[in-house]
Amino acid sequence: MTAKLIKGGEVSKQIRQELIEEIKRLKQQHGISPGLATILVGEDPGSKVYVGQKEKACNELGIFSQRTDLPAQTTEADLLALVEKYNQDPKIHGILVQLPLPKQIDANRVINAINPDKDVDCFHPFNAGRLMIGTYRFLPCTPHGIMELLRRSGISTEGRHVVVVGRSNIVGKPIANLMLQPAPGGNATVTLCHTGTKDLASFTRMADILIVAIGRPKTITADMVKEGVVVVDVGVNRIGKTPEGKAILAGDVDFDTVQEKASAITPVPGGVGPMTITMLMKNTVDAAKATVR
Ligand code: NAP
Repeated sequence: MTAKLIKGGEVSKQIRQELIEEIKRLKQQHGISPGLATILVGEDPGSKVYVGQKEKACNELGIFSQRTDLPAQTTEADLLALVEKYNQDPKIHGILVQLPLPKQIDANRVINAINPDKDVDCFHPFNAGRLMIGTYRFLPCTPHGIMELLRRSGISTEGRHVVVVGRSNIVGKPIANLMLQPAPGGNATVTLCHTGTKDLASFTRMADILIVAIGRPKTITADMVKEGVVVVDVGVNRIGKTPEGKAILAGDVDFDTVQEKASAITPVPGGVGPMTITMLMKNTVDAAKATVR
């Protein structure tokens, strides 16, 4: 068997097209333009790239984008004051503070200061709690992207065994939670694995759908999966450079061997990656829509 490729780039384009239409409608019918404030503290090159990509996506879709770059030595009090300014700003519907933050700033305190109605990353404990009990308004961007990839590829999770490897707060825990919700796109039987799991392969081999988010290149090999499995590889690992100096990326799954056994698989790059920023845009549009009375 050679796996069908689940192409995140194509699904992401489709969702962005839908968002453009929704943004136009919001403007015409309610005079509202969704607005996203992005805050970058410091000079981390990776963070700069991510914030730049988010700004570009806003511009392409017609979302108002307000970017603030702060020096690395910014105090927690100054950052909290800026967050509060955006909490009060009616032009801003989503606030994104790019993580990680410099050491002198407590990231949890900053996340807790964002108005949950504007928490488009869905990291605030209020929104994390709502996700857990199934009354969510926003979903965190990467797990949401995975849900949409599966749904739009016609892959049902209903009654299937989903094995998630990795228990981070941004990917593993929320996607495991979403998969077990008694709702469309969920209703699966879920197993969540991590570094404390003994004999990881004995669990991954049971998966009908395997979602891997560990940040360890090519860890899941063909002998660890069963024939016909659907594989979602969230990992993005830099494993080298091309002679031109471009990063060579690999997922957490050994794509070349696992694709021989899988029925469907997300490639890296071009699988989950393109979905994350698109779902951030969707959350911003949804936050703006929620202000319509
Ligand atoms: P993280 O916070 O580092 O968490 C990794 C998780 O994997 C931890 O729970 C860890 O277990 C577990 N783990 C690590 N090695 C393992 C192993 N050998 N066996 C079983 N479990 C293992 O990572 P993350 O933020 O979730 O990100 C994971 C990967 O996804 C990274 O490559 C990241 O770059 C990528 N990512 C991509 C996107 C995207 O948009 N495509 C978005 C987010 C993340 P413990 O808890 O026991 O330590």
